[in-house]
Amino acid sequence: MSGMQLSGPGIPTQERRIKGPVACIECFQQIPCNPCEEACPRGAITVGGEITGLPHLDEDKCNGCGICITRCPGLAIFGLDEAYSSSTSLVSFPYEYVPLPEEGQKVRCTDRMGKFVTEGVIHKVRTSKAFDHTAIVTVEIPREYVMDVRFIDRQGVKDNGQRE
Ligand code: SF4
Ligand code: SF4
Repeated sequence: MSGMQLSGPGIPTQERRIKGPVACIECFQQIPCNPCEEACPRGAITVGGEITGLPHLDEDKCNGCGICITRCPGLAIFGLDEAYSSSTSLVSFPYEYVPLPEEGQKVRCTDRMGKFVTEGVIHKVRTSKAFDHTAIVTVEIPREYVMDVRFIDRQGVKDNGQRE
């Protein structure tokens, strides 16, 4: 099954998603938190006066840079690129483990609950001191799973590391 429907103030519309890279903020708990708002250099995220409010994404201001992905303590922000190719999309997510996956590595991709969705290929691994020990991993997957895939099976990453 694919094509999970999600909506909320932080979820970009499909119309916006097919135009290219954009953040997808899956934060639905009204907790006092707002580093995402402060992290965005384009002012695309607004939590508002009430710090327990849900973050709102201005999808037209967002260029999908991914900075906010590593700043969210709840690991609730993802990056999507549905315009990557005619048959594949990119999904980016925060990754706080070692070893890191390697670019080009084939991986098993999972949903928000850790359930297998589809096979994918690691497209990019971004690290930076500014990310504070959190990497941004980007996986290329069949396009129809862009709203389903949110992580990868870490066991496959470890197995790959052990073979080296
Ligand atoms: S991806 Fe970049 S531009 Fe978009 S909301 Fe996050 S920090 Fe702002
Ligand atoms: S930083 Fe993360 S958990 Fe906090 S409000 Fe923003 S999206 Fe929600």
